[in-house]
Amino acid sequence: MTGGDDNAPRPRTVRCPACGGFSLYAPENPFRPFCSQRCKLHDLGAWANESFRVEAEPDQGIDDAPSDARLH
Ligand SMILES: [Zn+2]
Repeated sequence: MTGGDDNAPRPRTVRCPACGGFSLYAPENPFRPFCSQRCKLHDLGAWANESFRVEAEPDQGIDDAPSDARLH
């Protein structure tokens, strides 16, 4: 464990225009200034299209994955 990285630059965060929450304003966040794909699509009104689906991207920041693989 490496705690206390005071020298490391903190990630810049902004307010998500959709939900008002904190959003990571960095290249790791392709949805910036939105905090997530959901907020970005919601702002664009894309939710009217039922074809919306979460794509399997190599991004570990998504915690809204389908629950079909979840054990009960
Ligand atoms: Zn948001």
